Amino acid sequence: MNAEVTRQIAELRETVARLHAELTRYNLVAWTSGNVSARVPGQDLMVIKPSGVSYDDLTAATMVVCDLDGVLVEGDFAPSSDTAAHAYVYRAMPEVGGVVHTHSSYATAWAACGEPIPCHLTAQADEFGGEIPIGPFALIGGDDIGKGIVATLAGHRSPAVLMRNHGVFTIGRDARAAVKAAVMCEDVARTAHLAHTLGRPVPMAQADIDSLYDRYQNVYGQQPVAPAGS
Ligand SMILES: [Zn+2]
Repeated sequence: MNAEVTRQIAELRETVARLHAELTRYNLVAWTSGNVSARVPGQDLMVIKPSGVSYDDLTAATMVVCDLDGVLVEGDFAPSSDTAAHAYVYRAMPEVGGVVHTHSSYATAWAACGEPIPCHLTAQADEFGGEIPIGPFALIGGDDIGKGIVATLAGHRSPAVLMRNHGVFTIGRDARAAVKAAVMCEDVARTAHLAHTLGRPVPMAQADIDSLYDRYQNVYGQQPVAPAGS
């Protein structure tokens, strides 16, 4: 490993450790569930959370480095049990630089019902460009979860998928963008739930959704996922 890659990994260990604090800050995770990973730009490597370590004990030093087959390359702990899913996404979607997984309550309630979140809010149009889709049911371990994520999100505007009976996976051009998508997904899911409880949410015109999405993604400088390493 050359000095530049070593430097990048050290930086990503810090970044990924710090981003895990956002999952607890926004109340997206319970106990040790949930995880963030980042691709090491230009390398077949990722930095990911270790398995079963308390959020209070997550530091740059406890993060682990795996190759894109999920095999541990560097670190003192076993990688997250969701490593295979993250690795599959990085292998299949070269534009993705960060992946997040949570069981955040409201979004996961939609996943439990097998229901996509319909787009009834401008904030959802901005961030997700329409509905937040449902992915297939898949058992943990192996490539099934990763395949379900990629099959649902490839070519879709949404950076978030609700994996049926499981929870949320989000992608981004980097780990921070994937964390933001996880935070916004839960926010939208909560409001959508309240709206459905109050009455019948009012549909939005597709042209308005398209216009909001275009403006937010371009005018606000929130570029869609860019090629890794850019
Ligand atoms: Zn899970």
